[in-house]
Amino acid sequence: MTEEHLAVQQAARDFAKSELLPGVIERDTHQKFPAEQIKKMAALGFMGMMVDPKYNGGGLDTISYVLAMEEISKVDASASVCMSVNNSLVCWGLEKFGSEEQKEKYLKPLASGEVIGAFCLSEPEAGSDATSQRTRAEDKGDHYLLNGTKNWITNGNSASIYIVIAQTEPEKRHKGINALIVEKEMPGFVVGRKEDKMGIRGSDTHSLMFTDVKVPKANRIGEEGFGFTFAMSTLNGGRIGIAAQALGIASGAYELSLRYSKERKAFGKTLAEHQAIQFKLADMATQIDAARLLVWKAAYLKDQKKDFVKAAAMAKLFASQVAQDVTTEAVQIHGGYGFVKEFHVERMMRDAKITQIYEGTTEIQKMVISRELLR
Ligand SMILES: Cc1cc2nc3c(=O)[nH]c(=O)nc-3n(C[C@H](O)[C@H](O)[C@H](O)COP(=O)(O)OP(=O)(O)OC[C@H]3O[C@@H](n4cnc5c(N)ncnc54)[C@H](O)[C@@H]3O)c2cc1C
Repeated sequence: MTEEHLAVQQAARDFAKSELLPGVIERDTHQKFPAEQIKKMAALGFMGMMVDPKYNGGGLDTISYVLAMEEISKVDASASVCMSVNNSLVCWGLEKFGSEEQKEKYLKPLASGEVIGAFCLSEPEAGSDATSQRTRAEDKGDHYLLNGTKNWITNGNSASIYIVIAQTEPEKRHKGINALIVEKEMPGFVVGRKEDKMGIRGSDTHSLMFTDVKVPKANRIGEEGFGFTFAMSTLNGGRIGIAAQALGIASGAYELSLRYSKERKAFGKTLAEHQAIQFKLADMATQIDAARLLVWKAAYLKDQKKDFVKAAAMAKLFASQVAQDVTTEAVQIHGGYGFVKEFHVERMMRDAKITQIYEGTTEIQKMVISRELLR
């Protein structure tokens, strides 16, 4: 790691401890979006880390991004999913594929964190099979008429700018899909109900409804019919962020367990002096290190402009399983205290599960990896 990497890591670690840790249990309990904390993250440059400084970004590499994601996720995975969506699903796609006007108008405020973005692909009937888009973007000459419903949208209510994937020419199937930039104020756009979730409860997950929303053609990203390729390319990079999130949840739970095992006594000695607990810690640390290397490899390949699709899917597949395993063991090490909110690890166990579901489930990652292997 360079000095810059270490500085980013330290800044994220300090921020997580001083600003995210206080109140994280309360936000989880009451499903409260960390609005104030996200504003402070924006001021520190965490919301558009990889964007070119000319568009208000931090101009950092993907390694810096995953280091920051790990540190933020160690403490608050609800804040880190907001950060991940804004950085890798919204800013990255806009910078890579957006027009100059779109970058000026939308990327700049998103990269500075002045506003938050959302990425809207999933629908009630289109999750893993993202080609089955029912949301329609009818071509009306100078604009599209958007109609449909999106589900499970992170930053659903807190966002101001939404990238919406919609079908324009159903007969062309996935080649008839477009990616449109939609503003929250556009008439006909309604934010639906907030989901009551098992984990990442501080994050803001909503359904969205579009009824005859007029979206100017200038808000289409890329050429006509580019939307599906746009979504898949964006998700390939996004997976590195979620892999880093999973890694952070695991390493946060591990650090708490290590500390607790040195403090808690049973049978006249600390938990850490019992070999059964030592072996748990050894397994947890080994799994976390392996996950971290996969995450860094994917980030490194992306930074080197090499093909990172398989590496990103492997990192997400593995790190999300590690998050499941390590957080479950963390609760076990904490015993009864692990089962109550005050000790954090039960929240981490609940938060870990989502990393196996969003931005491509575990099964979808295996499909991506095997497709790459058999190519
Ligand atoms: C908290 C949360 C936040 C989210 N945020 C966003 C967001 O910001 N934007 C967005 O667009 N979406 C978001 N999602 C949606 C998420 O990406 C989808 O839930 C996910 O892709 C799975 O789709 P699904 O729920 O429809 O499950 P399904 O696709 O119905 O899958 C159900 C099960 O079947 C398996 N399966 C499906 N197809 C196959 C196959 N061919 N072979 C083997 N197994 C298969 C899946 O792996 C899964 O285990 C979010 C979801 C949640 C829960």
